[in-house]
Amino acid sequence: MTPPHPTKRPTDAAHLDDAVGDQADDLPRELLTLPWIDPHNHAHTLSWADRERYALSGCRSMLMVASGYHWTPYKPVAADDVRFLWDDAINRRGAIERDHFFEAKLGLGIHTGVRIENPDELLDAMADYCELDEVVAVGETGVTPSQHVSRWDLAGQRAVVGAQMELAADHDLPVILHTPNTTTDSRREYQRPPGTPGYEKNAGLGQDPVIDADNPALEAAKIDVELADEAGLDEERVVASHADRNNTEWLMEQTDCYLSYTIGHSWLIGVTAADVANAIDEYGPDRIMVDTDCANVLRTDPFALKRAIFELYRYGIDVDDIRQVVLENPRDVFDFEE
Ligand SMILES: [Zn+2]
Repeated sequence: MTPPHPTKRPTDAAHLDDAVGDQADDLPRELLTLPWIDPHNHAHTLSWADRERYALSGCRSMLMVASGYHWTPYKPVAADDVRFLWDDAINRRGAIERDHFFEAKLGLGIHTGVRIENPDELLDAMADYCELDEVVAVGETGVTPSQHVSRWDLAGQRAVVGAQMELAADHDLPVILHTPNTTTDSRREYQRPPGTPGYEKNAGLGQDPVIDADNPALEAAKIDVELADEAGLDEERVVASHADRNNTEWLMEQTDCYLSYTIGHSWLIGVTAADVANAIDEYGPDRIMVDTDCANVLRTDPFALKRAIFELYRYGIDVDDIRQVVLENPRDVFDFEE
């Protein structure tokens, strides 16, 4: 028994036992130093100081995704523009590891957010890239309901996504899908054109959808999984990044894919650690990951995953389940170091 506090009058400390029971003796100190893996970011586009933030907050490994039209200066995009992005990431990856000590691997793919004029040239080159040790995933890719600047018809997108699924199957690599998000209700309908503050993209150049469905974002995910099946790529080798309230139920109940919840730009897509906690409660931790998708073109937070670890605990998730979703699952799927 500790003696009563010598405070002048009673304080909250006198009632701690009533408030938290014996929790105070059982705090999850291990979460302070739990290593974690970010299986989807664009950290090679961030600043040195941002990458240091990953290291400072315990990032053990990361998968830097070198695909995306955001970084190509020309629109529509030509194959060489994307090839430059792959090569830039390959060029700098080793130095990033040496400076920050975490393991940094690459995902290379053909993003469908804007039409690429000669995608076959990229697909032809991709097989050799898939052979590289530092390339541990194909992607991010997947069918996109509407493009920036230049529409890409569904048949064309299917062909280029399907071909990447085949490459992944041939090289025994997992695929990262940029599963389309639905935006949250809380965002305002009107914002001053041309865009969304916090996102360096001219939203006024968004094109009409190429998918005609009630739920185009979910329809896109369904097409992606169908393409994986057709290519003979096991669904357990597909990681649907940007899992959200619109696609979780279908992905969990109708597929064997992994779901990765993107929590590095919650202000934009509305997905938070609460969604991750809800998914763990409902479906268990076996097919769940968390990623940041941090990139220089939008307001993102390199501390987001570390913060989510604490949030998950506060939301009642067990330490073992937290470790599984932030460390073990991405390590196993992408074959990161033990
Ligand atoms: Zn991304």
